Formats: sequence, structure tokens, C-alpha cells
Amino acid sequence: MRYAEVSVNSPVAQRRAFSYAIPPGLSIEVGQAIWIPFGDKILQGIVLELSPYPSVEETREISGIIEPEPVLSPSHVSLARWISEYYLSPLFDAVALMLPPAFERKAATFISSPLPITEYDIPSLTHEQRHVLELVSRRGKVSLRDVEKILGVRQTRLVISQLVGHGLVVKSYEMDRIRVRPKRVPYLHLKVDAVEARREVARLRQQGRASKQASLLEFLCQATQPVPLSEARQRASCPASAVKALVGKGLVELQQIEVKREPISYQSIKPSGPLTLTNAQGTALQSIKSSLLQVAKGHTSPAIFLLHGVTGSGKTEVYLQALAEVVKLGKRGIVLVPEISLTPQTVERFASRFPHKVAVLHSKLSLGEQFDEWQRIRTGEFDVVIGSRSAIFAPQPELGLIIIDEEHEWTYKQHDKSPRYHARDVALKLAEMTGAVVILGSATPDVETFYHTQRGDYQLLQLPERVTPKEGSPLPQVKVIDLRDELKAGNTSTFSRLLSQAITKAISHEEQVILFLNRRGTASFIQCRSCGIVLRCKRCEVALTYHFAEGVLVCHQCNYRMPVPQVCPRCLSHRMKFLGIGTQRLEQEAGYDFPQARLLRWDSDVTKRKRSHEEILNKFRAHQADILIGTQMIAKGLDLPLVTLVGVINADTGLNLPDFRAGERAFQLISQVAGRSGRGTLGGQVFIQTYSPEHYAIQAAAKQDYALFYNKEIAYRRQLHNPPFTRLVSLVHSHTNDALCQREAERMKHLLIEERDSKGIADLGIIGPAPAFIHRLRGRFRWQLILRGSEFSAFLSLIPIPQGWTIDIDPIGLT
Ligand code: ADP
Ligand code: ZN
Ligand code: ZN
Repeated sequence: MRYAEVSVNSPVAQRRAFSYAIPPGLSIEVGQAIWIPFGDKILQGIVLELSPYPSVEETREISGIIEPEPVLSPSHVSLARWISEYYLSPLFDAVALMLPPAFERKAATFISSPLPITEYDIPSLTHEQRHVLELVSRRGKVSLRDVEKILGVRQTRLVISQLVGHGLVVKSYEMDRIRVRPKRVPYLHLKVDAVEARREVARLRQQGRASKQASLLEFLCQATQPVPLSEARQRASCPASAVKALVGKGLVELQQIEVKREPISYQSIKPSGPLTLTNAQGTALQSIKSSLLQVAKGHTSPAIFLLHGVTGSGKTEVYLQALAEVVKLGKRGIVLVPEISLTPQTVERFASRFPHKVAVLHSKLSLGEQFDEWQRIRTGEFDVVIGSRSAIFAPQPELGLIIIDEEHEWTYKQHDKSPRYHARDVALKLAEMTGAVVILGSATPDVETFYHTQRGDYQLLQLPERVTPKEGSPLPQVKVIDLRDELKAGNTSTFSRLLSQAITKAISHEEQVILFLNRRGTASFIQCRSCGIVLRCKRCEVALTYHFAEGVLVCHQCNYRMPVPQVCPRCLSHRMKFLGIGTQRLEQEAGYDFPQARLLRWDSDVTKRKRSHEEILNKFRAHQADILIGTQMIAKGLDLPLVTLVGVINADTGLNLPDFRAGERAFQLISQVAGRSGRGTLGGQVFIQTYSPEHYAIQAAAKQDYALFYNKEIAYRRQLHNPPFTRLVSLVHSHTNDALCQREAERMKHLLIEERDSKGIADLGIIGPAPAFIHRLRGRFRWQLILRGSEFSAFLSLIPIPQGWTIDIDPIGLT
């Protein structure tokens, strides 16, 4: 007998795998999807390992296979196990990341007969048993559900188990049918012959009427086969009414034809070749090429590169040529981009370099499209898979190169559901397992990533300048404006005098303006409007959060509390409690101050709909508005040549979040926003309004000086024992009762301390409990513990973590 270690699709399985016996005659491989008995159910399982011995004394047998081919490759099986261990997530949650779309379904049970029915001793059977056997003999295979319709659920169970017990029928399992409808598209063709159609064209032309109908007919006369309706209408520039009229006259006919779903429409994409690289690009590509080659020859393990270059410095061109190189070596690539950058323009650049060889994966594809793409990727149809976070799990065979663009982006971390993985860390693990080279690209690399280049773990490649095809479009000029001076000068408006003048001037020159507001957390910290001080925790250095209800300031890291002071502790001003404004208010004020300008607002409130990002952008690009007002969303890689002015309304909002990464985040956002200006030939200006102009993140962002920022930031990280010098874990408990929630968090803290001390682990700090950043979420209160140390998985995996707790390993941002 042989045995399989199986990850079971059940919430009770948690991080465990289960041993099952492989029945004789069944061929089972690692990565195979199977049916297994679990309790009194038949569930899905994925085989992780084969072994001659079971890991427990008693095992049950595998019930059947779901698909003859394994659904997971051996490296994906290892990756799933790593994710479950590292992120302490249920094993099947990790496995599920790599399964084909809509794979998780229930088993449908069927019964059939192993022998011809005539061989049974019919008279000894009950009426019901005979009835079922007759059904089986007539149909060959009958679904349990059909039997239940006749006999009812309880009777069916009884009868079937009797028949199975007598060996008269056997059970088998299949997946519930998935209903992905084939995609059909209307095609148009002539219903009459070409001679008659031409006669009609001549008649219409003579009468000088219905010229659209005539040109459509003419177009169809030339076509040798049916033409997609949309294409025919476009080519003959003809409205729907003309098609309808011709159909009515019986001259043309519409026909629904089944087509492959292709998320990329190649109609308007022209193939493109590689550009001649600049020196910096050439040097970067050379290093990547040589690593790819060394790996192919089996000489070295693959390298990890950080491609550091501002927006427009030509990183994407390097990606494209590196991909071409890996394809030349007979391998394939995966490219990750943040969801918001996964625009048609981005995809087009890849698709035009690798026509019909690019697959796209993202959450907005229909289930059918996802399903088709996944299957085609697995068969090796694509050289490149491009997608957001979860595309790292695409079944791309012969993986040779993984590219993560904007590697610093927080959207690569899945924070809202298990497994709480970071796509970059998963990619590095996958690369290690498959021998793929990794390129991380960014204008503002994650401090932790850059630290690895300093230690020599990653290789740093730099593109210090923009590729400037035309004269001009240098990096924009950045000016920091001290808002305290505005107040002293009697200006209480949201706009400083300089910004206000610049806006007026830009609009009068018919140029465009972006006003940027980092809204998150604007209302939760308190700042003195006269001197700009923000009250911070004396122990943790993070900004204190204002709790409206109780009127107190709270440290969301260690729970230190203090009342809101009536006067500023530094300058004795009474103007404390300044909370900043949101995008809606900003829009109102801009409307008031610049009545001549046409405004457009872009934030998550107005972009909930599927295509509204594109709509807003297109509107702005078409110069149907003068000022675009938005949150961090507008900081992404957009090319807007008419924008000559960017205003950051209050840079402090980002700095004062209760998070040690606040400085890094502020630096990244301001740098990106600044990069939006001056993409065209008009040049650009950036104004940053702030109450803390001396802050290193703002200083460095204004100078577009990454090194300046990094050196300060890494020193603070070292001093305060924050990552990359330690690692963090966040443990959040949620409960409908605030006091009980806090008490449970205290209990957990004591448990953790006991465990730690009994194991003698020295470098493990336990901070809190404190209210989580989002203290109340959907009617539940949340309290948080933070662990700080170097190794957790082994320690935490032994601690019983009850329901209501969420563990986040390497948490990012505030939750
Ligand atoms: P990034 O990815 O760093 O933002 P891109 O690769 O998009 O930079 O390059 C910015 C612009 O410069 C694009 O329009 C691109 O086509 C162009 N470009 C990039 N490399 C070159 C090159 N070597 N020669 C000419 N144009 C280039
Ligand atoms: Zn003050
Ligand atoms: Zn604190």
C-alpha cells in the first residue's frame, strides 16, 4: 500500500495535511486533485507528497481522482507549503491560490453498476432497491441527486448504502458542472449573392438615399467570409439602424459565432521592435542577460535585481528586452504590476512586443475569461503573463524571469484575507524554487529592498535619468511651502499664496493642474496650526490618534493615552485640533477660489464603477477639465502632457499616520506625485504645502533624492528596531464588546510572554495591546498586539490561537 499526504478543502483542516491510502490500481501523482472522504462528506484534496508509510495509524482510502493531470506543479506544491508555514495560514487557503479559477466546487455523487444487471438475484431485493437498480441499468450512471428526487434524501441514503454493501452498485464522484458559457459574437454576411447586392447598392446610390446601407453592402461584397458585426460597422462607419434596415430587407443576415475569449484585443495593436537602449539601460540589460545566461548554463543560482529609476527612465523597455532574452533561452516570464497600473496602455506595450503571446490576469476579467486564460497559460501558449498580485501564482511553465514593477507598492500585500502574503516575498521564494531571475523595479524602492542591495543580497541597477525623446521635460522643479508662514501672513485659505498664483497662471495659459490630497487618516491626528507640531507617543514616536468619542489622544501601538491639550505644548497657541480636510471640501474650496476653472474629482468615492478610472482620465486627458483633484490614486504612472503644475495640499497627513512606515510612504507618494508634472514639453512645477518643511521625507522628496531619504530612514529603523532589522507580526482580536476584546488581548499577551520565557527566546518583544488603527470595523471592536523579533513561525505555530484572532506576518500599513 502507498499513501498520500493531502491538503483537504475544509475549514477544519487548518494547517494540517492528512494521510490517505491509495487504493490499488489508482495512479496518483504529487499535485493531483482528488476526492477524499472527510467525516461523512466527500471533499476535494490536493496531493502534496507520496510516501510508503502513513503519518497516522488509521487511514481511509482516496475516493477518486478529479482530473487525470496534476493541477499543481511540484514547485507550486512546495510554494503552497511554504506560504502556509510562513504566514501561518490554513494549508488549503495557500493551495487554493494556485488552483484554476472556480476549481473549488462540491462533489456530485454518481452510482453505477459493476456487473450486468441480469446477474443479480432480483427477487430478494426490496421494491426501492429494485427501482434504483433498474434506473442504473437503463442509464448506466445515475446521479445521487436524481435518486433523491424520487426517494427523498433519507430513503436514498439507506437504499444506496444497502446496494453498495451488497456490491451491487459503486459510487463515483465528479465536480459539479461549472457553467462557463462559450462566448458568442454576432457576425454579418450577405444573404443574397454579390450581383444582387451590387444592384441594390447602385439603386440606393441613384436615389441618393441610405448611403450608409450602400457602403455596408459594398463592404460585405468584398468580404469572403462573415465579418464581426462591430468590425463591419466600424469599417463602413455605419449605424445600427442601417444594419437593421438591411436585415429587414432580407439582404444581410446576422449569425452568432463562438469565439475564443481574449482579454487583449489585438485589432489596434501594432507589433513593435526593441528600441536602441541608452547607455544606462544597456548596462542594466547586460547584467540581467548575463545572469540569465549563467543560470541557463547551470553555473550560478539566479540573481535578484533592483532596477532603480524614476518614472520615464526606461525601466519598462528594459523589462521588455529582458523578457525577449528569456524567451530566446526557451523560457517564460511573469510580470506583476499594481492593479491600478494594469491599464490597457500598459498591457498594449507588452502585447505589441510579443503579439498573441501575452496573457492577462486580473480580478476584473469574467470568470470565463479567467478560466480560459488559466488553461491556455498552463499549456504554455504564452511567453509572458502580466497581471496584478495573484498573477504570481499563474501556472506558467518553464519560468525563467519574474518582474515586479513598482515593487514598493503596498497592494502587493494581501492584507484583507488569508493567506496574508506579500507577492514580492512569494515571488522571491518561487524564483528560488524554479531557478528564475527576479527584477524588482521602482522609482522609490522599498527601504527594505534597498537595504538588501546595500548588503549585497540583491544587485542594484540604476537608470538615473529620464529618457527624454524631446528637448525639455527635465525633472520638475519642486518647491516646499511652509504653511505656518501663511498663517502668520494672515492667509487662512487652503491654498498658499504661491500655489494660488501658480494655479491661476497655469489655467490662464490653458495648462492643467493636479491637486493632491493624501486623505487617509486626515481626521485622526491633531496638529497645531500655528507651529505645526503633531503630538506623538513618548515611547513609540508615532503620531497619537484622536478618538472623537472620548476626546483623548491614543497611541495605537502601545495604548498610551492623554487628554487633548487646550493649548499647544510648544507655542502655547490655541489653534490645536486642526484636522485637515477631505477631497470633497477641497473641491468646494477650489471652486470658490478659482471660479474660472473646470474641476474634476478622482477618489475612491467616484471610482467605484468598473471603468470610471479610465473615464475620468480620458476626460482629463482630452482637456475637458482644468484641475484634477484626487487622493493617492492619481500618483500612479500616468502620462499627462498638459499638466504643468502639481500641488500637494498637505504633505503632513501622510507623515502623521501612526505607523513607522509613514515617512517612507510620504516620500513615495510625494515623489510619485511630483513625477506627474512636466511629462510633456511644457516643463513643470510642484508645490508641496506642509507644516513640517524640515522633515527629511519632505526634504528628500522635494529634491527627488532617494539616497538622502534612505540614509536617514534606515538610521531611524535601526535605532527604533524596526524592519528590516527586525520582523513584525500583528495579532488582531475582534469582538462586539470593547472591554471583552481588550481583556482577550491581555490574556493572549500573557500567554505569549509565558511561552516566550519558558522557551527562553531572548529577542522577542510583545507590544500592546492597543486599539487597532481601525478600532471599530463593521460593528466589531479591534485590539492589536505587535510582536517584534526575528523568527516567529516556529514559535507561533505551537500557540493555540482561538477564533476571532487574525495573524498578519510582516504586516504593512494600518489595519
Ligand atoms: P519607465 O518604465 O521607467 O517609466 P519607460 O520604459 O516607459 O520608462 O520609458 C519612458 C518613455 O521613453 C516611453 O515612452 C518609452 O517608449 C521611451 N523610451 C524608453 N527607452 C527608450 C530608448 N532607449 N530610446 C527611445 N525611447 C525610449
Ligand atoms: Zn504650536
Ligand atoms: Zn506608544
